[in-house]
Amino acid sequence: MKGKKGLSLGRERKFEIKRKNRKKIEKSEVNRVAKEDKGFIRVHPSAVIGKNASIGRGTVVWAFAQVGEKAAVGKNCVLGNGCYIDRTCQVGDNVKVMNKALVYRGCGIGDNVFVGPGAVIANDKTPRVEKTREFDGVEWSIGEHATIGANATVLPDVNIGRNATVGAGSVVTAHVPDHGLAYGNPAKLHGFVCECGEKALLEKEGKETCLMKCSKCGKSFSVKSEDYKRIEK
Ligand SMILES: [Zn+2]
Repeated sequence: MKGKKGLSLGRERKFEIKRKNRKKIEKSEVNRVAKEDKGFIRVHPSAVIGKNASIGRGTVVWAFAQVGEKAAVGKNCVLGNGCYIDRTCQVGDNVKVMNKALVYRGCGIGDNVFVGPGAVIANDKTPRVEKTREFDGVEWSIGEHATIGANATVLPDVNIGRNATVGAGSVVTAHVPDHGLAYGNPAKLHGFVCECGEKALLEKEGKETCLMKCSKCGKSFSVKSEDYKRIEK
C-alpha cells in the first residue's frame, strides 16, 4: 500500500459549499458529477470527516458516512451511505466501501478493494466495554483487488490475500490466501478465483506451486501448493 497524499478536508469542505451554491442539483447527483469531474473530492454535507483525515482526489463520500481522525483514504474511492472508516485506517485507491460497511482500526485496505454493503472488519477478538485495544499503525490487511461480500464479518488479525473473494454473509476467522475463495461460517477455502472474479480450475499441480486457469477469461496464475491443499472438498 502506498502512502496517501490527500488534501486538507477543510479546503474541500469549502469547495463543496461553493459548488452547492453554484448548482443545487449537484448535491443529489454526486456520482454523475464525480464521473464528469474526476479531480474533485465530493463529501456529502451529512458526512463526518475527522480531524487530520485525508481523502484523495476523485473520492466520493456519501451521506452519513464517517471517516475517523487521521484516517487516510486514497484516490477515486467511493465511501457509501452510512459507512464507517475508523480513525487511523488506511484505505488505498479505487476502493469501494459500500453502504453501512464498517472498517475498524488496525486494518489496512489495499488498492481496488470492494467491501460489500454491511460488511464488518472487526478489530477485537475479546471485546469488553472497559478496554480499548491499542494499535500502532496497520496490523493486518485486505490485499489489493480483494472482494468482501455483503454482510461478511472479517475477524481481527485475519489477512485477506490479493484478488481473494469472501462470500456474502461469511465469518472469516483464518487468513485467506491470494486468489482464495472463502465462504461459510466459519469461512473455509473452497477454491481460487481469477482477477476477473470467476472461479479458476487446476491446470497443473506442483510440489511448491499449483497453476490455476480461469474458467472464463483463461488467465493463469499460480498459488502455493500448501494453500491448494486447504481447499474443502
Ligand atoms: Zn478470469
